[in-house]
Amino acid sequence: MNLETIEKLQKNFPSILIDEPMSKHTNLRIGGPAKLFYAADTVEDLIDALQIARREQIPWYVFGGGSNMLVSDDGFDGLMIQIAFRDIKMRSKSVTADAGAITASLARQTVEAGLSGLEWAVGIPGTVGGAVFGNSGAWGGEIKDTLVSVDCIDLATMKQIVYPNAVCSFGYRDSRFKHEPHIILRATFGLKPAEDSTKLTTRMNEIMNERKEKQPTDNPSAGCIFKNFVFKDESEIEKLKNEVKDIPVEMLDRKSLSAGWLVSQSGMKGERIGDAQISEKHGNFIINLGNARAQDILMLTSKVKMKIRDEYNILLEDEVQLAGF
Ligand SMILES: Cc1cc2nc3c(=O)[nH]c(=O)nc-3n(C[C@H](O)[C@H](O)[C@H](O)COP(=O)(O)OP(=O)(O)OC[C@H]3O[C@@H](n4cnc5c(N)ncnc54)[C@H](O)[C@@H]3O)c2cc1C
Repeated sequence: MNLETIEKLQKNFPSILIDEPMSKHTNLRIGGPAKLFYAADTVEDLIDALQIARREQIPWYVFGGGSNMLVSDDGFDGLMIQIAFRDIKMRSKSVTADAGAITASLARQTVEAGLSGLEWAVGIPGTVGGAVFGNSGAWGGEIKDTLVSVDCIDLATMKQIVYPNAVCSFGYRDSRFKHEPHIILRATFGLKPAEDSTKLTTRMNEIMNERKEKQPTDNPSAGCIFKNFVFKDESEIEKLKNEVKDIPVEMLDRKSLSAGWLVSQSGMKGERIGDAQISEKHGNFIINLGNARAQDILMLTSKVKMKIRDEYNILLEDEVQLAGF
């Protein structure tokens, strides 16, 4: 990127940062510098930044909380835009949250307002935009369950558009936003007034405690690295029963093999490359012991994938999103 372009952007956006380490903005605490870094506080600022980036042909990447991202050690030679508009509007039976709203605070605020439907999301790091993008889920809940509509920019036309849930193509950690370029601006959720708000608060606290018990919290991570393996049909289940011993009944019932369980079965918990380690506590978490590089994480995930493929004939898919590679 030439100096003239950088100066032009700095003139339009005085708060833009140069060579900003992405390790400061990702949960994994990994990632080299973004040549340009801009936190868009309003939709208007976001659109202005996109228009300039397009006009000047600068590569750009939009993100929220950085909790599901692995950024290259070389960083990103373009404009990193963080969605930083974070308003939450509560109504009697629904809530509209800006894409930059913190998912966990959204969950807390809805519970405090006595509304049920998002309490499962209390421990999910990151923003509402990121959660809609990946149809985040936990403890039996998923974004798609209560989402009514998504306001976004369709990057093919640069028009703002509102999609009802039915056209968002939500699936397991999947949505149309992963396949067609859009920027999520805000989302509306339909919620139910809880019959017993004390019970709702207790449920939220239980979820938080269970998370602390089962997941590593002392070291940085990006949450689950791999998607769980979903069985296509009964014949696949029968085939797998021969390849993988002692599959827990609950996984057979829900037709999904937990990636963490597979990693644990393969004996890879605790394996390390550099400062990247497969958590001893949860096989689907790779933690940063201090100075892990993106390369270490990638090599470790490849090692896991190869072992699981060789031992069980299963191809694990990444859940984490790559940027700058
Ligand atoms: C400790 C830990 C526990 C976790 N537990 C869970 C869990 O239980 N369940 C679960 O589903 N996930 C979990 N995650 C993963 C992560 O928190 C979620 O995927 C989260 O919703 C990502 O939000 P984010 O804002 O951080 O996204 P980012 O990491 O910022 O971005 C992820 C992807 O979304 C895209 N994106 C972000 N915002 C927008 C937007 N406004 N418009 C378009 N695209 C956008 C980015 O381009 C990127 O490709 C966990 C992560 C950690 C670190």
